[in-house]
Amino acid sequence: MSLGIVWFRQDLRLEDNPALQQACKECTQLLCVFIDDPMDQSISRLGSASRVWLHHSLQALGDSLKGKGNHLHFAQGDALCVLNSLVEQTGAERVYWNRCYDPASIARDTTIKTELKASSLLPVTTNGMVLFEPWDNLKADGTPYRVFTPFWRAAAAKITERPELLSAVKAPKAIPAASAKQLDSATSLVPLDTLALIPDKSWPHGMMSHWQAGEVAAKKRLSAFLKSAVHDYSDGRNIPSCSGTSRLSPSLHFGEVSPRTVLARVFNGRKVTELSDNEETFAKEIVWREFAYSLIYHFPNTLTEPLDSRFDNFVWASDTDDHLEKWKRGQTGVPIVDAGMRELYATGWMHNRVRMVVASYLIKNLLIPWQSGEAWFRDTLVDADLASNTMGWQWSAGCGADAAPFFRVFNPVLQGEKFDKQGEYVKRWVPELESLSVKYLHKPWELAESERRSLNYPSPLVDLKVTRQRALDAFTNIKGTK
Ligand code: FAD
Repeated sequence: MSLGIVWFRQDLRLEDNPALQQACKECTQLLCVFIDDPMDQSISRLGSASRVWLHHSLQALGDSLKGKGNHLHFAQGDALCVLNSLVEQTGAERVYWNRCYDPASIARDTTIKTELKASSLLPVTTNGMVLFEPWDNLKADGTPYRVFTPFWRAAAAKITERPELLSAVKAPKAIPAASAKQLDSATSLVPLDTLALIPDKSWPHGMMSHWQAGEVAAKKRLSAFLKSAVHDYSDGRNIPSCSGTSRLSPSLHFGEVSPRTVLARVFNGRKVTELSDNEETFAKEIVWREFAYSLIYHFPNTLTEPLDSRFDNFVWASDTDDHLEKWKRGQTGVPIVDAGMRELYATGWMHNRVRMVVASYLIKNLLIPWQSGEAWFRDTLVDADLASNTMGWQWSAGCGADAAPFFRVFNPVLQGEKFDKQGEYVKRWVPELESLSVKYLHKPWELAESERRSLNYPSPLVDLKVTRQRALDAFTNIKGTK
């Protein structure tokens, strides 16, 4: 009889889970555990919304494991200490996990691997988070891509050459559990509630009323998306008032579904060239996520610093606490920005088009460093992901890989008029403006003074034109620097 520990992390699923799969092959009994590890590096700590999602996702994984004859166990504390005591208490011989690629996890996992090996234990690590690990899709000269299109082309060529890359593995039929005696001796295990992932407030309940966490729900969302919205994805994904996107981001982040499973369902045995334009556009988005992981692996300093070092000298506005607070609360007086920020706070998610608009507004109109926006998103998004969030913010700031040029300043009025023509999105999240005609909906400051006052909606924090020019001037100052 051999006991293996499966350490679940960002792979909260049974299907296409290589660590679980291998553990089932090599061990006769498995102890499945999730460790809430408050790693030192605060940037890796989960934000409030993510912790709430995690709680529900762990519950769902526990239910799925029960259905296979096993259980999900929980522990809290330094992962190495927890694993060491579990090994000591239960006599486990191997520890299995799927790899993570952010610098803090890499450092922690490397130490754990070394320590486990030193105690003659076998750590087994596999890839369950991405289709291409950061070293699998490099330029011909072995260096990482900094531009997306060639990254995508190389990825698509690899999928065409090796269709087995998209062979997702089914969930194990049975997952034999550790014996009652072994579990009794595992005193470091605690109930899920001890992790206190859900704050003692009413806010998480409202947020989760928009979602269902867990593998089963993720697969349902994927199927529903592939049945309908994917067929109009190229256009539909730009309209924030409609359900034109998959809403799979939190599920991909927590690994409730693997990118391989998603791509396998999209490709459905076909080559890239046989996909419709809509399907290809969607597949590309999944590969953007891969690109993000490649970037944080190869350029780990970009979690906090701009990839383009000219931005080290960028002069941001000072005394911005009030503006930052109003941006967070959706009180900027710019309707599409406020709608996005309120959607975020209420649901833990924001439409991608609006993410770009609110980010541009914060960075370029308010001249507040992208890191402040990144931190707020990290705390409030259910899909907060170090790799994608950093890439999204650096892209918006114009200082990252394949970024929008800094001089491209989104005009939130034009964005609203183009992508929220009838104002359905703004009216949903900014009910103060419900009665306005589309003419004024995206620029209520143009209403007559008396009408504007009766709205109970704030005046704009800043003048969009003036602040656009201020940002361009600030950029001109660093343009030629190195
Ligand atoms: P779909 O359009 O259905 O796309 C399918 C999947 O592809 C997504 O679930 C996601 O995993 C991936 N994807 C799509 N667009 C991107 C992208 N631009 N970059 C990386 N992956 C992408 N995405 C996150 O998952 N976590 C974040 O923390 C995050 N922060 C962002 C911050 C900013 C400032 C910006 C501009 C974008 C950010 N994104 C982030 C990317 C994108 O907005 C979300 O992935 C997308 O809105 C999620 O909705 P969806 O699942 O319906 O996406």
